[in-house]
Amino acid sequence: MIREADFARPDAPRRISLTRFRAGEYDPAVKEKRPILPAFRRELERIPPYRVDTPAHEIKLNQNESAIDLPAGLREQILIRLREAPWHRYPDYPARSLERLIAKRIRVAQARVMAGHASNELLYATALATLERRKTMVTGAPGYPVAKLAATLAGGRIVEVPADARFQYEVGPIVAAIRKHDPRLVFLPSPNNPTGSTLSRDDVARICSATGNLVMIDEAYREFSGVAIQSLLKQFRNLVLLRTLSKASRLAAFRIGYLVGDPEVLSRIERAKPPHSIDVPAQIAGETLLASGDILSAEIARVKRERARVMKSLATLPGVEVFPSRANFFLIRAENAAGFYKYLLAQGILIRAVGTAPTAPPLLRNCLRISIGKNRENSALVAAARRFFEREGR
Ligand code: PMP
Repeated sequence: MIREADFARPDAPRRISLTRFRAGEYDPAVKEKRPILPAFRRELERIPPYRVDTPAHEIKLNQNESAIDLPAGLREQILIRLREAPWHRYPDYPARSLERLIAKRIRVAQARVMAGHASNELLYATALATLERRKTMVTGAPGYPVAKLAATLAGGRIVEVPADARFQYEVGPIVAAIRKHDPRLVFLPSPNNPTGSTLSRDDVARICSATGNLVMIDEAYREFSGVAIQSLLKQFRNLVLLRTLSKASRLAAFRIGYLVGDPEVLSRIERAKPPHSIDVPAQIAGETLLASGDILSAEIARVKRERARVMKSLATLPGVEVFPSRANFFLIRAENAAGFYKYLLAQGILIRAVGTAPTAPPLLRNCLRISIGKNRENSALVAAARRFFEREGR
């Protein structure tokens, strides 16, 4: 195949016509009458499309969502406001009312909050704002795969620091990687997905002290963790917290996330973000939720209780290893993980097979991630696991 760049070479074959080349005459695909693929960035060849496989199921424990919806009254208020809102006008940008309510809820100055179209958008904006060719992101492995997609797309280099055998991130090796690679961005989820492990406040302080560059802690699941690191923002200008209303706040359908950090730092990230990205329904849903009283904490407490119950039950089963988690999900390893996944699916229970595909990272081999559902859903999972592993163990 001859590329257009070849024409610039002094030894380029003279008799090839650029016009005919552009018309695709030298491309075997064209000879075979297949249309030529337009040009794309080379990095895309290393980025698989993000897909969530969702086979038919009755019990959904595969995406770490809230198992219950918002109260009917609150849904109704959102619908009324949406009905009355002008649909022919752009949404507020920046979404100041939403940011004001977030700031009030988490008790920081409004200038320290920047809302976005869920945390994934803010993660992409951060990668674009910090990385470029030959600049590095240091992150943990296993970790949140979307961070790697965003960093690759931004043209950056990725250095992954492996967690220990129990999937706990270790500060020593992370700091060593920071010293060695001088990254533009350090990205670490806490609680981590897919493992549920956390970094302590002290761990985060040590990591922030090791670099002047950006340290982003993804706190998508922080409400379930009991770890509070927000007060470190006063000490470290390079620390940014990434949060979402998709998990404990139960608004996954509406796509709202936010960053908390230094106003100047946020203003740099803002420049890499598309305007008007939080649409009117999302702004209304977020504002209505945040303006209502505390409707979330009872459910968060239930999830934590259920997490303890389910993890304890599974840990007693032969051949099942359960890893510590402080999120609304947890990770297990079992020899016949693929068989267990299929067995559950046959009973209508869908979990996440994070380590059974041939392309799965070696650290996650034979691992499965299970979200905490409603009590009866969790009981169905435990009963199915008992049937499967007690039979396997025999
Ligand atoms: N960070 C982590 C660690 C996650 O697990 C997820 C959701 N799977 C996200 C960010 C993205 O959440 P959202 O885009 O819904 O805010």
